[in-house]
Amino acid sequence: MIKEELWQALLAQIQFNISKANFATWFKNTGILSKKEGKIVVAVPNNFSKEWLENKYNKLIFKILHSLDEEVKEIQYDVTKPGLKINQPSPTSVEVKDQFSQLEFQEFKVDKVTNLNPRYTFENFIIGPFNELPQAAAWAISNSPGSVYNPLFIYGGVGLGKTHLLQAIGNEVIKKYPQQKVKYVSAEKFISGIVNSIRNRTVEKLKSVYKDADVLIIDDVQFLAGKEKTQEEFFHIFNNLYQKNKQIVLSSDRPPKAISALEERLRSRFEGGMIADIGLPDFETRVAILKTKSQEKKISFSDEILEYIASNIQRNIRELEGALNRLVAYYRLNDQLPNLETTKTLLKNVIFSPKKVASPEKIIKTVAFFYDIKEKALLDVCRKKEIVKARQVAMYLLRGELKSSFPFIGRKLGGKDHTTAIHSYNKIEKEIKNSENLSNEIDLIKEQIYRL
Ligand code: ADP
Ligand code: MG
Repeated sequence: MIKEELWQALLAQIQFNISKANFATWFKNTGILSKKEGKIVVAVPNNFSKEWLENKYNKLIFKILHSLDEEVKEIQYDVTKPGLKINQPSPTSVEVKDQFSQLEFQEFKVDKVTNLNPRYTFENFIIGPFNELPQAAAWAISNSPGSVYNPLFIYGGVGLGKTHLLQAIGNEVIKKYPQQKVKYVSAEKFISGIVNSIRNRTVEKLKSVYKDADVLIIDDVQFLAGKEKTQEEFFHIFNNLYQKNKQIVLSSDRPPKAISALEERLRSRFEGGMIADIGLPDFETRVAILKTKSQEKKISFSDEILEYIASNIQRNIRELEGALNRLVAYYRLNDQLPNLETTKTLLKNVIFSPKKVASPEKIIKTVAFFYDIKEKALLDVCRKKEIVKARQVAMYLLRGELKSSFPFIGRKLGGKDHTTAIHSYNKIEKEIKNSENLSNEIDLIKEQIYRL
């Protein structure tokens, strides 16, 4: 990476680590003066900045630069002499960006009474096969709270839209029925509220707030597990609301059955209405989510880039958004769309690269593919010469890469005796030493195994 890109990438990352005000103050008019043999000289506009960067941000700057470019070993800060032109982001871009994000920030204020954040709506909730059902149920409820499914229980993994959907229900109800009292609360807050009110002897007062609601939404109820006293209070609130046909909406990271230490009577209440789960978004939906979110920000990244993100982040919509936000930050600082190379660098720390590990299945698959034979033939008793050789190679790799036991290897490949496995391993090991061809083949196979 050239020094300009390196600094841009650093700025894009650093703003996720420090406050906006600090970012604008300390990183305005900075850039890289030179980069030589692992030493980076950072240009700063004045002594004041120099001191701050050196004393407060040096660690962070180093960490990020080093993660972007392993060659970076040392950083020095220099106040640039007047007249020296620094290669740096256009100085205004930092300010522009700052105004921008403040705007975005102010738009969404959590309502003090309902606890709802207006940013979560049905309009910006993207539907795919994985969340169709919970979305439809949530929508139905917001049209006629209290009379369709009660309670509605939505569960699913982290970052997949539970909170978004729950809050969208609340926001939609208020839009359609402004006189209805909606109350959204995370289970954690609910619990601490109960605990405090017990201490202050104000339980009844607190309960009356909840019992007053027309729509009560409690997020992440798995946290109620093991909290007996809270569960008891909640049970009473629940019954009270339920009897009055008030809508209750709950979410959890797992189905009611799987929440341990949940009182049976509460569990059966949770299961009494509609249970809908949010699964994992498929590739097309992940791309659609990225497209929609970049359109919202009026930026169009190339398909190649969106597909790169979508193929690498598969299980969490929050992470998809996070990755996109980094690219957005880069774009706003540079007035330029990142290319694939830059994208990879920018997302290096975000994209979880699954540890490249071998598994018996991977080894067998790769060996079969490499020798162009059917996996089944490899696992079978077939004695054809080429197949026998491939099978021996697979046995060799199972032992060498996975330290599998010989009986396991024998069983795995055609139900052979462990002595066959030992024999194969020794044979290939010996042959590698004499045959460059075989040795190359095995290297190639290994490369493929660890690349998959
Ligand atoms: P959870 O509560 O399941 O952990 P969130 O509701 O907080 O997840 O979602 C994480 C982020 O992803 C939020 O910013 C949310 O707006 C966004 N998100 C989740 N699902 C969708 C969706 N279907 N459409 C658009 N944005 C979504
Ligand atoms: Mg949530």
